[in-house]
Amino acid sequence: MNGVVIITGGSRGIGAATARLAARHGWNVCLSYRAREDAATDVVAACRAEGVRAQAVRADVTEEADVAALFDRAERLGPLTGLVNNAGVVAPQTRVANLTRDRIERVFAVNTVGAFLCAREAVRRMSGGAIVNVSSRAAVLGAPGEYVDYAAAKAAVDALTVGLAKEVAGSGIRVNAVRPGLIETDIHAEGGEPGRVARLASSVPLGRGGTPQEVAETVVWLLSPAASYVTGAFVDVGGGR
Ligand code: NAP
Repeated sequence: MNGVVIITGGSRGIGAATARLAARHGWNVCLSYRAREDAATDVVAACRAEGVRAQAVRADVTEEADVAALFDRAERLGPLTGLVNNAGVVAPQTRVANLTRDRIERVFAVNTVGAFLCAREAVRRMSGGAIVNVSSRAAVLGAPGEYVDYAAAKAAVDALTVGLAKEVAGSGIRVNAVRPGLIETDIHAEGGEPGRVARLASSVPLGRGGTPQEVAETVVWLLSPAASYVTGAFVDVGGGR
């Protein structure tokens, strides 16, 4: 049996698939969500069906008090040894020329500040373990004409991964990131184009979008002792894009 893993944004998409797979691998799972309690409850039930302890906590990653409460609740399940910094948002597709200050701040608040707050809380509390940051191929590709603000917010998460990995290696904490490509989840509807993956599938060398399960497999491997000599690393899960 592994320890406890916190998965932010575990109610839907990549986070939900990661929660279910982590449970299958014996992790006790504490997942967070922002609004969709119904979806979070379903994921918790699926995790418990794997025979582990699981719970869902409503916690906005941009709120320090929520983040502290999330970690307090997680520690009731046992010693914390994992964090998946997965909660993320995009805003409607547009060009940089049209970005408002409010939007830029919101995108950075969830994707970057939220990841920092959770990583900070994790390294304060964990004595050994692993953090996996869910970045994006957008951090490298730039997402021109769609959401350069989001791409930049994820590039900051990449720098967090590199720097924090070096800071806490001596404490037995590994820090890595996955960079998903085009994955079939609700996030594309949030960007205003539910059919985005289908539109862009032909630009992917493997010829299709990816599934949340395919990203989860890499996240759970990075959490596991099988990745014991991997830190400060990035795994692209983008079908070659
Ligand atoms: P999704 O299906 O839209 O799910 C987003 C999840 O994040 C939901 O569980 C949502 O909770 C939660 N969330 C949003 N804002 C939050 C906040 N402020 N505090 C706490 N939780 C919050 O997204 P996804 O596609 O699975 O994305 C997961 C991660 O992968 C994100 O970091 C995203 O940037 C990254 N990513 C996705 C893709 C892709 O193609 N899908 C590609 C690259 C990277 P509720 O259910 O309560 O709303």
